[in-house]
Amino acid sequence: MKYHATNDIRLIIPKAALLTVFDECDGFDQDETGGRVIGTFKEHEGKLEIRVTGIIEAGPQARRSNVMFFQDGAYQERIFREIEDQHREIEHLGNWHTHHVNGLQNLSGGDIETYHRTVNHRNHNAPFFYALLVTAKRRSADPLRRYTVKHYVFRRGDERIYELSNRQVEIADAPLVWPAGAGHSHGKRDGEPKHEVRSNPNRAYDNEIVSEFYRGIRPFSNAKLGMYWRGPLELLDGSAVEVVLLEDSAAAAATYSVTLREPPAALRTLAEEIATVEFPSARAALITTERSCNRALYQHGGTHKVHFSA
Ligand SMILES: [Zn+2]
Repeated sequence: MKYHATNDIRLIIPKAALLTVFDECDGFDQDETGGRVIGTFKEHEGKLEIRVTGIIEAGPQARRSNVMFFQDGAYQERIFREIEDQHREIEHLGNWHTHHVNGLQNLSGGDIETYHRTVNHRNHNAPFFYALLVTAKRRSADPLRRYTVKHYVFRRGDERIYELSNRQVEIADAPLVWPAGAGHSHGKRDGEPKHEVRSNPNRAYDNEIVSEFYRGIRPFSNAKLGMYWRGPLELLDGSAVEVVLLEDSAAAAATYSVTLREPPAALRTLAEEIATVEFPSARAALITTERSCNRALYQHGGTHKVHFSA
């Protein structure tokens, strides 16, 4: 038999982690997607306890189709090092990805080969590799039951693939170290459904639009600012202006604000105005900023002739 049962492995995964995964799946109906799973583990006399504490998104340079998925490893490493600065105990536990778009009910041959290779690679710290696989989309109003998932564990020096049963998986109420804000209940009023703060369906669409149309602009996070995006916004006259896009997730629904850094004269008034606006999503903030900047440049046309004729 390909998949083995075991009593030696226990998995603790926060609801916020599952919601992050499902939100991402909602944004990808045709193509596979996924991300890295991070957290901590304990191993004692062959018994393994895996505790998930974060999910790192695939990254802006990830490549996808309905049967394959390559993550942006450089981006994920950068995020991991940022998290590690504040949480020394965090390790790479494994990956998650989805087959709900192609109907495969288990890991593919390619997945298995890759994970066996990874777990036995000297650069892989943990003595195991955890793989979360989304296999199907369900019709369920319960946000935690929107998708069917399977949990697999590969152990170093072991040919077998372990599939965890439901009783080995504990779904916990705990915040995540990443994505920033996921699972934290600050700012939540009583009586609101618990998942509203944690699940941010906007995030998947935002990441998709930003990575597709605003290639220079990258997501970041730190303890002081929380989640933010930063990079050059290219404008119609061939110039670029540096934007910082901040997420304020303290309220039940996150809002976004834009700062233009060192704007040229033609954009100075606009920069002051736009800094006071609260946007409902990162993509709305960027698209509005881009259009407004282009309009300002166009109206200011005379002073920018040098760019158009260049
Ligand atoms: Zn796969």
